[in-house]
Amino acid sequence: QGPPPVTRYNLNKVTVTSDPVRNQEHILILTPMARFYQQYWDNLLRLNYPHELITLGFILPKTKEGNQATSQLQQQIQKTQNYGPEKDRFKSIIILRQDFDPAVVSQDESERHKLVNQKARREVMAKARNSLLFTTLGPSTSWVLWLDADIVETAPTLIQDLASHDKPIIVANCFQKYYDPKAKEMAERPYDFNSWQDSETALKMAEQMGPDDILLEGYAELATYRTLLAYMATPGGSKDLVVPLDGVGGTALLVKADVHRDGAMFPPFAFYHLIESEGFAKMAKRLGWQPYGLPNYKVYHYNE
Ligand code: GDP
Ligand code: MN
Repeated sequence: QGPPPVTRYNLNKVTVTSDPVRNQEHILILTPMARFYQQYWDNLLRLNYPHELITLGFILPKTKEGNQATSQLQQQIQKTQNYGPEKDRFKSIIILRQDFDPAVVSQDESERHKLVNQKARREVMAKARNSLLFTTLGPSTSWVLWLDADIVETAPTLIQDLASHDKPIIVANCFQKYYDPKAKEMAERPYDFNSWQDSETALKMAEQMGPDDILLEGYAELATYRTLLAYMATPGGSKDLVVPLDGVGGTALLVKADVHRDGAMFPPFAFYHLIESEGFAKMAKRLGWQPYGLPNYKVYHYNE
């Protein structure tokens, strides 16, 4: 018996096109998960991109909450992969447990959104995304879809819709549904402020910062006057409208795998005074890949 055979992959045969279903392109859906929401899983199952082309990757913290989310996730995976209809089953699923400490911040929305907690939190998020990415990206991966664990509603055609624009990096607009007590009906509001176009003010603020300081979006204390994707949505506006961006959020973000293969990751440190997904956009730009956003193409965040 000779040595084990060498498997050769020609990366130039891995296509990345605007019609990924027709070209049978493999996609990796990556989700950092602190909490498990059934609506996230149900929405994932409804995605109508062929599931046999989808690999799922998760990373969860080793906390009490993380343990609970892991067992809830495993239960749903069992059900789908072993007992559910054939067409629902995914190609493969990988679950990682974080080998570094979670940020010592509560997962409750009011706590985790406090400005003082942001740097540590975003650092941990960046490391979680990097671990997940570097352990799961394979030689046949064409696309990576970053999908947060609290995205509970998207179009079933999310992957096809985002890919159809043929952009290296493209992000949906993340909103949140809520009950409006005045109008006595459901309404929606912008949720994710991490997708934006830069401003002179923000660039000037960055110039005056120390080497480890970071700019954050969505805080009155740090008014940047950036143009936010969250506020570019217009009633009745075209879902196909595409705008270039300088920063992106990671809630529902489609990336051509080559962008990551080139080395674009989520800096867990100040990179041009940006961190995590916003730093990723900057790093991709430095590598020659332009990020884009879709103002009128919405996905919905869980409402705590
Ligand atoms: P926000 O919506 O901007 O407040 O950010 P989230 O707290 O929702 O975090 C973004 C994503 O990362 C979600 O999918 C969370 O479940 C997940 N997440 C948050 N904190 C951690 C963590 O410490 N470790 C891991 N692995 N995932 C996390
Ligand atoms: Mn969230």
